[in-house]
Amino acid sequence: MISRRSFCKKSILILGGIAVPLAALELFDPKKLAADRSGPSTVRWVFLVDTHKCVGCGFCVKACKIENEIPYDANVSRTWVERYVVTRDGKVHIDSPKAARDGFTSTSIDQGALGMLKIENSDIDKAFFVPKLCNQCDNPPCVQVCPVGATYQTSDGVVLVDRSWCIGCGYCVMACPYGVRFFHPVYHAAEKCNFCYHRISKGMKPVCVEACPFGARRIGNIRDPNDPVTRIIMTERVNVLKEEYGTKPQVFYVGLTREVK
Ligand code: SF4
Ligand code: SF4
Repeated sequence: MISRRSFCKKSILILGGIAVPLAALELFDPKKLAADRSGPSTVRWVFLVDTHKCVGCGFCVKACKIENEIPYDANVSRTWVERYVVTRDGKVHIDSPKAARDGFTSTSIDQGALGMLKIENSDIDKAFFVPKLCNQCDNPPCVQVCPVGATYQTSDGVVLVDRSWCIGCGYCVMACPYGVRFFHPVYHAAEKCNFCYHRISKGMKPVCVEACPFGARRIGNIRDPNDPVTRIIMTERVNVLKEEYGTKPQVFYVGLTREVK
């Protein structure tokens, strides 16, 4: 079965005829964030992923699919977990079978059409899991390219999609450098994570945060200096993905390494 990663890549290639460049991981500067903290709303939702705590169980992916009506067996998901295996020869192997909905049940790497790759334990330098989701970018290219305003940003920073306005042109799918967007198999509109906006706007946590048994996923309000997530972001070493694209991602990671794309 095709992996989430290769599905996203193929979607981009089919729709755009271009390859999205692989991104580098950049160190995040909390001082820049402090400068950006002013705004009309008292709330700016951000997300914190601690890769040290993720065990790749996939409970978050399962819970998200059920909560957000993503067909359980469809090969698309609003969030997914990637496994990184770095071997002693310096090669980086990445997979995410079924978005890791069922966790990682095989010790072999799922290479999609290329089959399974067996790696001996003695050849492994390091291995870890990285949950991915929409970064709710502060400068979201997906919003800028939508010709009908069907994707937009709320005052508390979450990027939403109005299914009834989406015309299915695919521009936002091509514009997102993180490959998080896809077309909903039933509604045929652009789809992606929205931090479970229907839950957080009622004081609840996103379902993936609730489902994670190890606290690897957390949500916070960056405009509240006493929020525990804000304190971690402002005082500890955190990273964002592909900062060089200028999208100002608002999903922060603890424990990322340079291998992560
Ligand atoms: S991660 Fe992609 S879909 Fe999400 S806000 Fe950023 S550009 Fe848009
Ligand atoms: S539920 Fe938590 S530990 Fe399990 S895969 Fe998701 S983020 Fe990782």
